[in-house]
Amino acid sequence: MDQFLNQEFGNGQYQLKELDGYDNKNYLVSTSKGRYIVKTYDYSIPLSDQINEENSILLYLNSKVSGVYPLPIKLTNGQYTHTITQDGTVKIIRLLTYLKGEFMGNTVPSTELYQSLGTLIAEMDLILQGMDSYVLKSRQWQWDLQYFKLNKVYLDAIDSHKDRNLVRYFFQQYELYVEPVLPSLRKQVIHNDANEWNILTNDNRVTGLIDFGDLAHSYLINELAITITYGIYDKENPIDWAVIIIEAYHKVLPLEEQEIDILYYLIAARLCTSVCNSAHSAKVDPDNHYASVSQQRAWRMLHHWLTINPTDAKNRFRLAAQMEVVDMNNKNKILAERYQYISKTYSLSYKEPIQMTRSAYQYMYDSSGNTYLDAYNNIPHVGHSHPKVVTAGQQQMAVLNTNTRYLYNHLTDYAKQLLSKFPKTLSKVFLVNSGSAASDLAIRMANIHTGYTTTMVMELGYHGNTHSGIEISDYKFNNPKGPGQKPHIIKTAIPNTYNGKYTSSHDDPGLLYGRDAVAQIEHSHSPISTFISEPIVGCAGQVPLADNYLRQVYPAIRAQGGVCISDEVQTGFGRTGDHFWGYEAQGVIPDMVILGKPIANGHPMGAVVCTDEIAESFEQGVEFFSSFGGNPVSCAIAGAVLDVIEDEALQENAKLVGDYYKSKLKDLMHKHPSIGDVRGSGLFIGVELVMPDSNTPNTALAAKVKNEMRNRYILVSTDGPYDNIIKSKPPLCFTKSNADLVVNTIDQILSEIHHSSLS
Ligand code: PMP
Repeated sequence: MDQFLNQEFGNGQYQLKELDGYDNKNYLVSTSKGRYIVKTYDYSIPLSDQINEENSILLYLNSKVSGVYPLPIKLTNGQYTHTITQDGTVKIIRLLTYLKGEFMGNTVPSTELYQSLGTLIAEMDLILQGMDSYVLKSRQWQWDLQYFKLNKVYLDAIDSHKDRNLVRYFFQQYELYVEPVLPSLRKQVIHNDANEWNILTNDNRVTGLIDFGDLAHSYLINELAITITYGIYDKENPIDWAVIIIEAYHKVLPLEEQEIDILYYLIAARLCTSVCNSAHSAKVDPDNHYASVSQQRAWRMLHHWLTINPTDAKNRFRLAAQMEVVDMNNKNKILAERYQYISKTYSLSYKEPIQMTRSAYQYMYDSSGNTYLDAYNNIPHVGHSHPKVVTAGQQQMAVLNTNTRYLYNHLTDYAKQLLSKFPKTLSKVFLVNSGSAASDLAIRMANIHTGYTTTMVMELGYHGNTHSGIEISDYKFNNPKGPGQKPHIIKTAIPNTYNGKYTSSHDDPGLLYGRDAVAQIEHSHSPISTFISEPIVGCAGQVPLADNYLRQVYPAIRAQGGVCISDEVQTGFGRTGDHFWGYEAQGVIPDMVILGKPIANGHPMGAVVCTDEIAESFEQGVEFFSSFGGNPVSCAIAGAVLDVIEDEALQENAKLVGDYYKSKLKDLMHKHPSIGDVRGSGLFIGVELVMPDSNTPNTALAAKVKNEMRNRYILVSTDGPYDNIIKSKPPLCFTKSNADLVVNTIDQILSEIHHSSLS
């Protein structure tokens, strides 16, 4: 090395300082003639080709504009590189001019700075259009976004299942939205790494770009995507900053519509590339501080990226490039057609319904570019569009889908997996296509098993839309428009400790409610075949059964020959936090359990789980067949849901976030007397709104809050006999900061309503 420098600059006529480098050793050399950068590399033929190519490109750039890009210095050997042997290894050395300027990473971002960044990158890309490079064309590596999917091998290096699956989600979006357009995109030589430590600035302007070691022959738009990715790190409003860069870039090098339209996903892809590689580096080199710092910033932005509606990003990017905005909103047309082709009995949420176009995890995206925090939908249990669930369905659908008349592993694998979540006595599974089909089948099986037909149901319970589903659902049959209570139905009072006969002011309200129910059972006009109830009654307004209630009712039902069904359609699969199944909170084991909604994250599926004895009785009758129930696709999806619940510790998250959420809501009760009760368990929560200082339902206030929440992009619903309970049962990936947002928004809305009623 010294020999080389002495040869180039004269014996001892220089000072040497080592610079921070990522892969190679670089030095700053100061001489009387000026300052230079010395770069050293371990020799290999491909790297040697690559460096020669980089030099040619830098020479070309410098032939068009000087002082902006490092200029390779011709060495005394007449070439631009030199090889030396140091400690037994062959090194390549090259010299470049040193460019003055402050790294962008050390400057305060400003509009002017970002404009000049967009301009400079576009000017460079314009010049680079004059270069062709077979060496770069042959280079395939994971930092070139056109080979983004090479990063999949690093997924396993990401420790957290949640984070890994988030990256998988963006891989999937890339396959869906980016891959189809790739063949028609422009390609050229690009710098491919305009990060803040490669960008030089002076006086609030970008003046230079260094480090051409990542040069690629790639899609032109990747250049912009990468520049933007680094430009938006740590920004609260990343799209605003991206727009500045795009506007400036487009003025110099006009972008094409199809390029702009995939930018959102390319930025996500670059973030994913960063986190994949950082995770990999951290595994192979745990002391690499650089990798872990950059990883945290990339993770933060990746999580933030989920909150941005892709349609909004696309349209803002289009506007920046003076392109027309794509209007996805055809609400009026859909609404008119809906009323033409679909019965009005299908109700819509909100007076002004929302047209949803996409969803991801706990977010839903509408056609106008808004992102809603989904604090309401429990069907996408592990998160909307969860990549593991999507992949399970896609792959199995492409391989085998059939009915249960043939043998395949998926049915038994899933049954085994599901049953492992239950006590031993619950040992047989029947798979159907909905919660309603499950409740209908469960009642039929119970009646066959017991030989009785009377069903005892819970006040305000809901179990399904079939003929028998309505018969056993007080919420429906007792509705003013409902068919009324059938003679074979016995209804028992909901053991509500807030608003009922026995409230929490009583010693043990569960015992008192239980005693009444047992009396009802004992005085029934006919033996009761089955008692069906949810552990937390959703349609009643998230009313948990009073403690100790089922412990009395179940034995009484069994004593007279009946069986007990727990409807876990809403409460199952870890939602309640403390337990995987809601009935566990009551210290009982049912004879039958019905499942639905979250079982397959939105894929239509339901199940009855029961004892061997009940299954055996059922086997005596006509055979059971369901065209779709238990098919391999459904089983694969439902299996993936169980895997994700476990991998991502979602029951634990429901407990952690749910407890936090509920305690924050309870805190609000001190401030807002209109909150009469906060109840539920895990991420299954109800907030009862009442007239101040009484527990008289306040239906109008609940409606107002629900609608105002919607105006502030949060989805909740109202329910209960007076529609005065705000229901929140979000996907289990909900976070504490999501909960904070909901609580703060409710707080704001109630305060505003309070103040406006005073004024
Ligand atoms: N049971 C309960 C507790 C439910 O909430 C529902 C649906 N709301 C059902 C059963 C019926 O399920 P599905 O809509 O899948 O038929």
